[in-house]
Amino acid sequence: MKDQNCIFCKIAGGDIPSATLYEDEDFKVILDLGPATKGHALILPKEHYADLYEIDDEVLAKAYKLAKKMVTVLTDVLECDGYNVIQNNKEVAGQTVFHFHIHLIPRYKGDGAGI
Ligand code: 5GP
Ligand code: ZN
Repeated sequence: MKDQNCIFCKIAGGDIPSATLYEDEDFKVILDLGPATKGHALILPKEHYADLYEIDDEVLAKAYKLAKKMVTVLTDVLECDGYNVIQNNKEVAGQTVFHFHIHLIPRYKGDGAGI
């Protein structure tokens, strides 16, 4: 199901353009509009799930497999020294877009990113 008022549904469905790093039947991986570091990416399922409480278990497993694959590939391209893989749930935890997503945040020695 899509949510007509959800920006990530629109991006994942191609109705709003985004810098897309990867796409398949179930997911889109895009660059974050306000990156914490160079190469900060977001994994979006194409189906709408508000958060970890709602997401289907199979989709969740696929999302983290994809996270691992993207981190492996992007590490070579970005020459980063490490990664944060972060996922926020509910406003109190810093979630601002209520469509499940995983942050992939490349880390560079001395980058000073306050994560
Ligand atoms: P959250 O705070 O919900 O975990 O993360 C939402 C992320 O989505 C933020 O890092 C924010 O910069 C990013 N974001 C919000 N709106 C857009 C958008 O329209 N396009 C892209 N590419 N990123 C967005
Ligand atoms: Zn959505």
